[in-house]
Amino acid sequence: MLTKLKPESVKAGNIRPTNYISTRGSIDPIGFSDAVLMGLASDGGLLLPEQIPDVSDKLADWRGLSYVELAEEVMSLYVDLPRPDLKKLLEQSYGTFSHNEVTPVVSVGGIHVAELFHGPTLSFKDIALQFLGNLFEYILAETGGSLNIVGATSGDTGSAAIYGVKGRDRIRIFIMHPHGRTSRIQELQMTTVPDENVFNISVEGDFDDCQNVLKGMFNDLEFKEEFSLGSINSINWARLLAQIVYYFYAAFRAMDITGKTRVSFSVPTGNFGDIFAGYIASNMGLPIKKLVLATNENDILSRFFNTGVYSLGDVHATISPSMDIQVASNFERYLYYRCDKDARKLSALMDEFSKLGRMEVESLSDEGVDGLFDATAVDAESTLKTIREYHEKYDYLLDPHTAVGVFAGDKFVEKDVPMICLATAHPAKFSQAIIDALGENVAHHPAIDSLEGMPTRCSTLPVSVDAVKSYIKGKCI
Ligand SMILES: *Cc1c(COP(=O)(O)O)cnc(C)c1O
Repeated sequence: MLTKLKPESVKAGNIRPTNYISTRGSIDPIGFSDAVLMGLASDGGLLLPEQIPDVSDKLADWRGLSYVELAEEVMSLYVDLPRPDLKKLLEQSYGTFSHNEVTPVVSVGGIHVAELFHGPTLSFKDIALQFLGNLFEYILAETGGSLNIVGATSGDTGSAAIYGVKGRDRIRIFIMHPHGRTSRIQELQMTTVPDENVFNISVEGDFDDCQNVLKGMFNDLEFKEEFSLGSINSINWARLLAQIVYYFYAAFRAMDITGKTRVSFSVPTGNFGDIFAGYIASNMGLPIKKLVLATNENDILSRFFNTGVYSLGDVHATISPSMDIQVASNFERYLYYRCDKDARKLSALMDEFSKLGRMEVESLSDEGVDGLFDATAVDAESTLKTIREYHEKYDYLLDPHTAVGVFAGDKFVEKDVPMICLATAHPAKFSQAIIDALGENVAHHPAIDSLEGMPTRCSTLPVSVDAVKSYIKGKCI
């Protein structure tokens, strides 16, 4: 039934500015800026570029570029902005990073770690959300509109989104988090931001309650229109686009270090966002041997890539909380390609899943469900052991999310293929796991240590769409 995998690639020189289509097939193609503002496709699907450009013949030229130069090359294939404007947006977005390479790659033991956590809130989400903040402001300046961003967070997305748009004209941001259920550091990163356009809402419920309130608001089309609601969650194509870049950058650095011509990546995964960017990079012609998909105990994705069955399990609270997700919102994009870009087939699978909590695809070959992917779940014990081991042997501190990926990377590493593990957060952000692993907190960062004692701003509201709506109305006068 499901046989073909490769998105159809076209030579990068020959394409028109990319248009975007929906995985559910019921919208007319739209341009990049409209796709960014739309977020979720209006037919309920996810947006994807009509074509994936093949850049194999450009790799040699791209290899010596700086991060920002490389980002300009990669992204210009997908956006409809004038090139000098794109360049300026990228310089702004990555000028806030504390490392001049933006995402440096370091060799530790037998692996290579791509450090994606040098942005202002110390998680890899800054790479996409610094860019998205600047992009929103740019598009709004062109169109003369304004935007009220509303989002729900269980932790890292909220602070990264707030830092992406704080202090901007034409944009307000409202972030809901579950009252008392994010880590203390994550809460402080959000509530200590003093800018007038930032509003933190502590919802008296859990993360699912926050998401339901959010859905309730976005489903009220009149309200959505009147208040120009915008979305920053990981279904926004612009976030994935920004993440494709570091796959190229890290692969080139690992090739420089080892002299090899092919690499593998290990990616700690929750929503299938980060690793889907790697899938696109692979289909653009970056020589990736394997994408290793690493989950924590919330293992729906690792089970899928080992069995072909996608079935709901229970949500577990783990020491890598940013991956405590069962239904991965970006997975639909991958399935669309697995359905040979047949929107009807894809819709049928998604319907089946929402009715039964289960669906199944056929394996592509004797290489398993998908020969590009290796997958495994990593439990807390192995995660803590990995943190301990890398600290003791190599004096290198892994955050618990990164450690999940490193454990899996070590498991699937092959001779002569450099393994690049994506480091998705700075360890100081998850100090409790560091204490659990090492018995003391040796993870510090000035941006975290300085949060204690700063004034905070936050409003507590009940689990109620109406309460949150009237709060937003009150701030928009
Ligand atoms: C969000 C997050 C992840 C998971 O990323 P996905 O794109 O959802 O797969 C992993 N690690 C950290 C630190 C995160 O904040």
